[in-house]
Amino acid sequence: MTAIKSVRGRRVWDSRGNPTVEIEISLEDGTRGRAIAPAGASRGTREAVDLRDGGMRLRGRDVTGALEGIAEHIAPALIGLDAENQKAVDERLLMLDPSPTKETIGGNATVAASLAVLNTTAASQRVPLWRYVADLYGCVPTVPLPEIQIFGGGAHAGRRVDIQDFMIMVPGASSFEEVMEITSEVYFAAGDIMASRGKLAGVADEGGWWPVFSSNEEALETLVQAIEKAGEKPGERVVISLDIAASEFGSNGRYRLALEDRELDSGQLIDLLGTWLDAYPIVSIEDPVAEDDRDGMIAFTRRFGDRVQVIGDDYLVTNADLVEAAVRDSACNAVLVKVNQAGTVSESVSAFQAARGAGWGAIVSARSGETEDVSISHLSTGLGCGQLKVGSFTRTERMAKWNECLRIQEELGADSFAGAKALDRTWWGRNKDKSK
Ligand code: PEP
Ligand code: MG
Repeated sequence: MTAIKSVRGRRVWDSRGNPTVEIEISLEDGTRGRAIAPAGASRGTREAVDLRDGGMRLRGRDVTGALEGIAEHIAPALIGLDAENQKAVDERLLMLDPSPTKETIGGNATVAASLAVLNTTAASQRVPLWRYVADLYGCVPTVPLPEIQIFGGGAHAGRRVDIQDFMIMVPGASSFEEVMEITSEVYFAAGDIMASRGKLAGVADEGGWWPVFSSNEEALETLVQAIEKAGEKPGERVVISLDIAASEFGSNGRYRLALEDRELDSGQLIDLLGTWLDAYPIVSIEDPVAEDDRDGMIAFTRRFGDRVQVIGDDYLVTNADLVEAAVRDSACNAVLVKVNQAGTVSESVSAFQAARGAGWGAIVSARSGETEDVSISHLSTGLGCGQLKVGSFTRTERMAKWNECLRIQEELGADSFAGAKALDRTWWGRNKDKSK
């Protein structure tokens, strides 16, 4: 037993310059540790909410109310608890705020508290966080295959294009290091192409190039050209992953592609995505339809789920009950795991376990508002989920997490890299041996 001695909240600032919550824990044995809450921009309506002050100051985004809740409610509830009992810690947080979206105490406060306890306990046991997580949840630690954004879009780029994330994956790499090297070549090749067309205009929220395109498909075409310019054959070592984030431009079965000035129904959007799947080496699609479009998600998964990873993000909001319902529906075949969508580590792991139990894929993910906190690199490795989504290949809040994976791989060895295995269920996974 290692009792929690103190819980202290403080206001720090995220990658978008917004206030956020950090919690520092100290244990009776003298160990100290901390964690910071990230913040999403394209948020699911059913995810845990951040408690923000509202009003005029700091655009209503300050977190003084959340910090008061930490001092008045969270600290007294956690002090004296055994930090090694993560489940009991998280249950206590849930007792403080049983609302489904944690609007009373704030998901930003609970996630920082829950992750801070996890971090501090690993430090107290003098093991890296990934090792502590693997032992706690009985998983085989695995260095993840990253999804890395090349162009940002949607809510992360002033809706300059409708689709949110144009990413690459490098399942053909033999190590995490090699993924970084190949991604760097593709990222800068994409920048060179943008520059040569007079379209280089900085970066979006997660560090991907700002998408000065005249259609969503132009981004895909340019991505393929960038992969080629980097000396790779698209579809061989390097493949494409998209986060459509369709809830951002559609609801009630209607989807408005503002850039192309057209409106589609759910079936037409699915047909459009199907043409992209035929034309481009896409292995993974997140939120292909909106969170309220259950029939669309079922239809998309039925049509394409045997060749592409279908990830539920806004659709599942890291919620075990929603994952179980989607398993029953055969909607999606993979879950995005964002700890702050659930609000605690234990609830996030339950969502992960529900997905794994159904044979689904799982991807631990950052948010578009991030910080120097690198817990998710460890969480992804410790859970052995095989994939990690962090954003792009610039900006330190992103690179800190990729760099942490490099350090973890150094300890675990290149054999622990998930690589191609992460995409076994996709066409790439099935055909990878044929391309050798
Ligand atoms: C996402 O949609 O997967 C994402 C990371 O964006 P946000 O954090 O804005 O939800
Ligand atoms: Mg998403």
